[in-house]
Amino acid sequence: MDKIQLQGILYDEKSSFLSGPADAPPLIREAYHSDAFNFFAEDGSEISPDKLVDHGDYTIDQYFDIEKISYSHLKYKTPLITLGGDHSITYPILKAFHRYYGPLEILHIDAHADLYDSFEGDPYSHACPFARIMEDKLASRLVQVGIRTLSDHQKEQAEQYGVEIIEMRDYSLKKVPQFKGPLYLSFDLDALDPAFAPGISHHEPGGFSSRQVLEIIQNIKAPLVGADLVEFNPKRDVNGVTAAVCAKLLKEIAARMLNS
Ligand code: MN
Ligand code: MN
Repeated sequence: MDKIQLQGILYDEKSSFLSGPADAPPLIREAYHSDAFNFFAEDGSEISPDKLVDHGDYTIDQYFDIEKISYSHLKYKTPLITLGGDHSITYPILKAFHRYYGPLEILHIDAHADLYDSFEGDPYSHACPFARIMEDKLASRLVQVGIRTLSDHQKEQAEQYGVEIIEMRDYSLKKVPQFKGPLYLSFDLDALDPAFAPGISHHEPGGFSSRQVLEIIQNIKAPLVGADLVEFNPKRDVNGVTAAVCAKLLKEIAARMLNS
């Protein structure tokens, strides 16, 4: 693999608490291009702009337009990274991936399981995407890591759908399985402790350090065909700290894609 595709989805209509993630993609790009950083991932790959086929940012009128946009890019058969947006975007993105790849293995890093059958009357809320994904059998395996907000309802949902959850309180790197692939990584920034990534809508203490999530990403050996970075809320960021975390994650994910 020598190229990665990038798309930005300017969408936060399905956020239950605060708006803001729709403004994130241009700020992640700005941090990625900033003279404050170079383009090297830690494995030594240079993720320079010529490695990225950047389709730019999309404003979304209808929720399921996200599926159409994603599907139109998958025809290039190179890995696709999506900059969100709230976490509701992952369901239509996975629908597009399913049409190309069939059921994917999914590694989902988040403070929240996002398995609600419906949230505040909306089955497509950002609290629900993984219920829809499992219901539609878009995943052959779903492993969730970093979860620290499990409700009884979401525990039942996880059991019903056979979701494997590594809760934050039980976490160690060796518990994260190796996947066969093709693998999709869905990364909600609130998996990180708010001290490391304050620019998020739901500050849930007791999360990952930046180092810990880099270790999870660098430990992926399976072919990684898609990823999203969601829930960065620039309105809550402090000195661009979270934007810089996103740019770092973008480089590290791209490096895994190029070398898997
Ligand atoms: Mn989420
Ligand atoms: Mn979350």
